[in-house]
This record gives sequence, C-alpha cells and structure tokens, in this order.
Amino acid sequence: MVVRGCENRSVNALVVEKQKSRENLFLIGVPCEGILDWHKIVSEVGEAVTAVKEDGQNLMVETRDGYQLLERADFLHDSCKRCIHPNPMSADILIGEPLPEGDPNLARTTVENFETQTIEDRYAWFQKEAERCIRCYACRQACPMCYCEECFVDHIEPRWTESGATPAGMQGWHIVRAFHQTGRCTSCGACERACPMDIKMTYLTEKLNHDMRDKYNFEAGLDAQSQPPFAAVTLDDKNRFTVRGE
Ligand code: SF4
Ligand code: SF4
Ligand code: SF4
Repeated sequence: MVVRGCENRSVNALVVEKQKSRENLFLIGVPCEGILDWHKIVSEVGEAVTAVKEDGQNLMVETRDGYQLLERADFLHDSCKRCIHPNPMSADILIGEPLPEGDPNLARTTVENFETQTIEDRYAWFQKEAERCIRCYACRQACPMCYCEECFVDHIEPRWTESGATPAGMQGWHIVRAFHQTGRCTSCGACERACPMDIKMTYLTEKLNHDMRDKYNFEAGLDAQSQPPFAAVTLDDKNRFTVRGE
C-alpha cells in the first residue's frame, strides 16, 4: 500500500484493532503536502473551471475564459490544513524527504474557537449542519475506522436510532458516529471529503481528538501497539482508564 501520514495512522489503528495483519502489508510511505478541496477552488473561481495544474506552491486553474494563479495552501481541505502528521511514521520505505510536522495548535485552535461560542449557538450550528444530511452514509463508507459488519444505524432489532431523515435521527447519527470514533479517528478527513452535502462533521471528531490528546496524551495510530484509552480499561486499573506514558 502507498500511504500518506494519515493513512499510515489508519493502518496502524486497524492493526491495533486486529483488522489488519502488519506482517502481510508492505507500506510505501509518501510525505504528504495535502489534498486540494475542489469546493474551495470552485467557490473562488466559479463553475467555469476546466482543469487544475499544480506547480510547486501554486495552482494554475484553467477556466473557459483563461487562467488564474492561486496559492495552493489556501485551497487545501480543512483536515489537511490542520494536519499534524503529514509523514508516514512506520512505512517500510519512504519515498521523498520528510516534511516539517504540522502545528498542533492549528487543530487545537479550531476546536477552542468553536468552544468560545455559547451552547445555544453551538447547538444551532450543529442543528443546521445535521439537517442537511441525506443519510447516504458516504462518510461511513469512506472512513477507514468504520468497518463494522452491521452499523448501529442499520440495526433493526433493537433499533438504536431513528433511521428516517428526521431531526432526531440525523442528529443521533452524527453524535453516535462521532462517539464511535473516540480515540480512533486518525484525522484523515475522508468522511468530510466524501460528503455530497459538504457537512462539517470533523468538528465533532476533532473535539474528541483534542480531548484524547489533552486528557490521555493519545493520538490514534501513531504506532501499531497502543490501544485507544477507552479500549484499554482493565479490571485491576487503579484509575478508570490506562493513560499512555503512565
Ligand atoms: S490529513 Fe491531509 S495532509 Fe495530512 S497526511 Fe492526510 S491527506 Fe496528507
Ligand atoms: S471519522 Fe473522518 S477524519 Fe476520522 S478517521 Fe474516519 S474518515 Fe478519517
Ligand atoms: S456523507 Fe454527508 S450526507 Fe451522507 S450520511 Fe454522511 S454526513 Fe450525511
């Protein structure tokens, strides 16, 4: 497999969860400069875009009326803009030179800025995002960590959540999906990129990632051994959960 930083993390996390066997994989690592966000390019240039060429730190955008030069960094997916680990950490070979690691404060700031809003404002924002959901489950299909044979939303007996496009059903889906990623989400952003409605669902998972970093010193998939804190509980723990490094 050819892997970027986040994909290497996902492979590691899947090895930890016994979904992949590391000895059966050969990982070719590529330091990653981020994925372009087509929505951002179209909203800057308009629907007339016919081609985009990358030229170092610039983008040459071809339209029906000519060319426009844009700065590549401004048109990355949000998850790539705040990416902390662009370099594959446990590839068998690495192609290219490692890039500088990302700034953890960027991910932190996104969450902390959002948290400065009142509960009412945050809930209004969440309601607005959730009500655009068409329950297509493309986010689930794209997520490397969503591999259950039967997802909780498809379960009929008992039914865990409303399956229709009701406000309760849509909010329930988003909240429970995010909680199922606690300590498991590798910040790859595939869920958001797959969403046909451009719903900002990584706001929820990044909040959980932020809490995992701050409270448990844990980031999913940095190695292929460490269990997510919520999976590492043992009956003789002095504390309720095992914390890496303690
Ligand atoms: S999150 Fe984006 S920038 Fe980071 S490794 Fe993945 S694709 Fe690359
Ligand atoms: S929840 Fe989204 S960002 Fe997290 S691992 Fe899944 S696809 Fe990637
Ligand atoms: S991909 Fe988007 S629209 Fe589809 S279920 Fe996920 S959040 Fe909803």
